[in-house]
Amino acid sequence: MDKLAFIDEALADLREKGLYNTIRTIESSVGAWVQIDGKRVLNMCSNNYLGFANDQRLCAAAKRAIDEYGVGPGAVRSIAGTMTLHVELERRIARFKGTEAALSVQSGLNTNLATIPLLMDKDDMLFTDELNHASIIDGVRLTKAQRVIYPHRDVEALERLLAENESIAKKLIITDGVFSMDGDLAPLPAIVEAAERHGAMVMVDDAHGEGVLGRNGRGIVDHFGLHGRVDIEGGTMSKAFGVMGGYVAGSAKLVEYLRQRARPFLFSSAATPPDVAACIAAIDILEASDEPVRKLWDNAKQFKAALAELGFDLGASETPITPVMLGEATTAWDFSKALFQEGVFATAIAFPTVPRGKARIRVMMSAAHSAKDLAFAVDAFAKVGRKLGVIRR
Ligand SMILES: *Cc1c(COP(=O)(O)O)cnc(C)c1O
Repeated sequence: MDKLAFIDEALADLREKGLYNTIRTIESSVGAWVQIDGKRVLNMCSNNYLGFANDQRLCAAAKRAIDEYGVGPGAVRSIAGTMTLHVELERRIARFKGTEAALSVQSGLNTNLATIPLLMDKDDMLFTDELNHASIIDGVRLTKAQRVIYPHRDVEALERLLAENESIAKKLIITDGVFSMDGDLAPLPAIVEAAERHGAMVMVDDAHGEGVLGRNGRGIVDHFGLHGRVDIEGGTMSKAFGVMGGYVAGSAKLVEYLRQRARPFLFSSAATPPDVAACIAAIDILEASDEPVRKLWDNAKQFKAALAELGFDLGASETPITPVMLGEATTAWDFSKALFQEGVFATAIAFPTVPRGKARIRVMMSAAHSAKDLAFAVDAFAKVGRKLGVIRR
C-alpha cells in the first residue's frame, strides 16, 4: 500500500483546477535580464526593486565576509551564533529606520513568526487587514489571541471593531505597509490615530515598502512621517535589499524581549556572514544616495503610463508593483506563456495568492531596467494583449 497516495490525489486536484504551478528555473544571476531554458529574457517579476541582487558592491562585501568570517554561524543567535556582523547589521537597520533598536532574523516570514506570538496571549485581541501577507496570517495562527479580520484598508470598520472591544486590555493592529499583490498602501496615518484613540499597538510589515518608500527607501513609516508612533516595524532584506533576511525594528525593550524569547531567534541558526555583510552593503548604498530609489520610481511611472495608455487595467497600485488585471487564471497563464515567447518573464498570479477571478500578471519594476528594456516590455505587453483580446488598441 502506498501511504503517500493522498499526495497523488492532491496534485491531480491542483492540475484539474488549473492551480498547478510550473516553477521556472533561473540559470543566471537575477538582474534585469535572466536566462531561463537557455533563453535570455527580460525579468519583470522579481522583488529585486533596486537591482541589488547581483550588484557588484554587495557581491564584493559577501566575498570579503567569507574570507574573514567563513560561510556559516554554526549556531542559533542565543547560543553561539551572534557574530560582529549581526550586531553591526542590527545597529545599521535601527539607524536607517530611525528606531532605538533592531533585531535581525533569517527571513521576513520569520519576522512575523518571531514577533506576533510573543506580543499576544489568549486574553488579547489582534486586528488584521483581510489582504495581509501569508506570513502575518501564520504568525497570527501561532497565538492564542482572539482575532478580528477587518475589510481591506477600511479604517472606519477597524475603529468600530476597536470600540466594540474596548474592554480588552491588550490590542494589536497588524497591516502590510504596501500590499504585495495590489501595490496599494495601508492608510497608516489613520490607522495610527485610531490605535492611539483606543490604546492599541500598531505593527506594520514593510516588506514592499523599504527601499521603495520614504527618504532613500527608509520605508512607509518614514514616508508618512510617523516615527515613534508605530510600535513595531517588521520587514525583509530579501526584496529591495536584494539578499535574504528579516528584521524587527522598534523600542529597545521590544527588541530585548525578542532576543530573550522569539522562537526563530532561539531555535533556528543565525543568518550567514555573506548574507549579513551584503545586507550591510545595501544599507551603505541607500544611506549614501537616493539615486536607486529615484530610478525605480521613474521606471515605474513610465511603464505604468505606457500600459495604461494601451488600455490595460492596472488596479489600484500606488507603488512600483504593477498588477495587470486579467480576470481568469487561464487567461493569466496564457498571457504569461505568450510573454515568455516574446522574451519577457512575468509569472501569472492566481488563486489562492489572489482572490478567484482576480488573476493577474504582477509586474515588478526595478531600477535595473533601462529605458530600452521598458520599451521592449511595453511592446511585448501590447502584442500579447491584442492577440489575447485583453486590449483593443
Ligand atoms: C515577502 C514578504 C514577506 C516574506 O519575506 P521573506 O524575507 O521572503 O521571508 C513577509 N511579509 C510581507 C508583507 C511580504 O511581502
